[in-house]
Amino acid sequence: MTAPTPAFASGTILGYPRIGRRRELKRAVEAHWAGALDEAALERTAAQLRRATRDRLATRGLGRGDSSIPEAFSYYDQVLDAALTVGALPERFAHLREPDGAIGLRALFAAARGEGAHAPLEMTKWFDTNYHYLVPEIGPETTFSLASDRFARQVAEAVADGVTVRPVVVGPVTLLALAKATDAAPDGFDPLSRLDDVVAVYARLLSSLRAAGAEWVQLDEPALVSESLPAAPAALADAAERAYATLTAGEDRPAILVAAGYGPLSAAAWETLSRSDVEGIAIDLHRGGTPDAHAGLADKVLVAGVVDGRNVWRGDLRGAWERLDAARALGAAHVAAGTSTSLQHVPHDVDDEPDLDPRLRSWLAFADQKVDQVVTLARGLRSGAAAIAAALDAASEALDDRRRAPGVADPAVRARTAALSTADAVRGDDAERAAAQDAALELPALPTTTIGSFPQTGEIRRARAAHVRGEIDTAAYEGFLRDEIRRVIALQEELGLDVLVHGEPERNDMVQYFAEHLDGFAVTRNGWVQSYGSRATRPSILWGDVSRPAPITVEWATFAQSLTPRPVKGMLTGPVTILAWSFVRDDQPLSATADQVALALRDEIADLEAAGIGIIQVDEPALRELLPLAVADQAAYLEWSVTSFRLATAGAAPRTQIHTHLCYSEFDVVIDAIAGLDADVTSIEAARSRGSVITDIAESGFAHGVGPGVYDIHSPRVPSVGEITALLERAARELPLRQIWVNPDCGLKTRGYDETVASLRNMVDAAGSVRASVSVPA
Ligand code: GLN
Ligand code: ZN
Repeated sequence: MTAPTPAFASGTILGYPRIGRRRELKRAVEAHWAGALDEAALERTAAQLRRATRDRLATRGLGRGDSSIPEAFSYYDQVLDAALTVGALPERFAHLREPDGAIGLRALFAAARGEGAHAPLEMTKWFDTNYHYLVPEIGPETTFSLASDRFARQVAEAVADGVTVRPVVVGPVTLLALAKATDAAPDGFDPLSRLDDVVAVYARLLSSLRAAGAEWVQLDEPALVSESLPAAPAALADAAERAYATLTAGEDRPAILVAAGYGPLSAAAWETLSRSDVEGIAIDLHRGGTPDAHAGLADKVLVAGVVDGRNVWRGDLRGAWERLDAARALGAAHVAAGTSTSLQHVPHDVDDEPDLDPRLRSWLAFADQKVDQVVTLARGLRSGAAAIAAALDAASEALDDRRRAPGVADPAVRARTAALSTADAVRGDDAERAAAQDAALELPALPTTTIGSFPQTGEIRRARAAHVRGEIDTAAYEGFLRDEIRRVIALQEELGLDVLVHGEPERNDMVQYFAEHLDGFAVTRNGWVQSYGSRATRPSILWGDVSRPAPITVEWATFAQSLTPRPVKGMLTGPVTILAWSFVRDDQPLSATADQVALALRDEIADLEAAGIGIIQVDEPALRELLPLAVADQAAYLEWSVTSFRLATAGAAPRTQIHTHLCYSEFDVVIDAIAGLDADVTSIEAARSRGSVITDIAESGFAHGVGPGVYDIHSPRVPSVGEITALLERAARELPLRQIWVNPDCGLKTRGYDETVASLRNMVDAAGSVRASVSVPA
């Protein structure tokens, strides 16, 4: 197999947003789930979206015929697509296969969302991004087979439109490295042990793609950059060596581009891939340094990922050009300009943001502008630096303008962070705090609570939209919100919850809401990025120094508290999460930005306390996801991230109970950090990992309050009293009773009221029965 030349002559991108510029895919998929759109109509909508994407990319300058245009569509998740394509559908969904054994959309959506009593696949973060993938379940009993022709059909669809796309599939090593063992697997089973079987199916997949007209295939192998997976980098490089030896030996296959973004390839993986017979390697030259030259590159295409696929800044295009130029010295047959990762992590188009300040807009690049940058750099490769000098100069001027713009550095903010000392991040003694809080709050054993949000109904969203459009005035909108809070408080009292929340109806999004009320942020109108499945978020753009012009949440919290004698939690989003779910500035260390946000929150906490709020939750669901993939960088990250949380919360009085909420169940490296946050109560996700986090917490010696989520809110399924009771009994066996809190896995805003009320009722019932059955020391 020789590489068709010239490949990617116009530059390439590793992937493009797939949700649609106006979230068309979300609407179609959700309509399908609701029974309002049949499968054929859904497929037609998806095909239209793919066509629109191909046309757009071609119009902006990626070649229709040279495999520059990736085909990276997914209805739900690319890891799930790869798993199901090779037949790894968990046994509990086997009845949903087509009569011929094929795995179609019905099985795919069931695996993603759960069906009846069948729990969905576990969901977790994709490397250090805010995208979530579904964790494949693989055991010794998994039978692999080519179970879907979806990838091939998409290639054929593009060919029919006159475009030679490069299908993008998660590679076999990454698929297995991210998988977990099935329940049926023996202890210690490693999914990677099934590599040869999986690779055999990938070989068949590759020939089907070739037959459909693909000249190249992109196999995404970001596992080869990560040091944070159960498998060590050397083991992953070994697996890659075996996998690609087999795949490249195949006849009738497309040329293979192995893409490893999200960081620098491990030295072992770089060596392995360079030596292998794959026709192309795509590496991240934005985050990673330039690797060593390698003789094995002489017959390969090197896609140099110099345009950052993950942030929204127009950035230093000249620097990108210089890195690209340097990559030409590595000895590859052909160097192509590329993005460092898929562009699925950025919004579509800056030109869709008419409300943004034009000056800020000139500093930005979303997916379409990044495509333009890649096309420009590719022109430089073809025609020389002089041909693109004007574009490089324009980018440099925008960068200079950004450095000089007012608000980017605010002297008052800088003076305050400069004056901080270690004591500012230390709270009082544990025992004193516990006693003061017990006295102030008088909670029962196994206190029940929720994570903060209640369902964001269509009514709430419509009212907010009407307010944004100016159709209802602020007084009317706030009156509506107060009614909503009254309802939610009454409901919680009726359900018998112990610690109440106001329900967050005023918040469109837990980060954007704060961004809208803090200086230094801008919010977008259409800047959606996929979070998981049909869910998208609209990250704010943090462009300047952060400060709080006025209290943000105090009015809502005190209003809610005025309605009930039970404690209502004040609800804030923590500094790390605010950063993680915003597009952050790239011109100063994250730690400096985090301290600025922390100080703004510290002021908010002081105001809440002064207004009589006794429990304040500072959510940090993103603490784990910002963890750097490189082990060497992790300690420094954990240090500044924990410090920023403490800086935000350490001003609280001993009697004020500080809660935090974390949105994931992998405790591994962050367990000490969680203890380091020094929150009085921590709620965490546990339901999808079936309670094993309880054991992790118990073994870590964690001494504060902890609420391991007792049911999964990502799925509409209502948990039974029995299953919640079982989880609580397990918690009560493994942890001291006084530490245990009872709550769902996460906020309820994406759920409907029917399932929410039923689930919470079962939760309160279960807590009551466990409370009665365990002996509670007086
Ligand atoms: N308080 C937030 C909510 O309930 C927390 C959400 C989250 O952790 N993602 O919506
Ligand atoms: Zn959560």
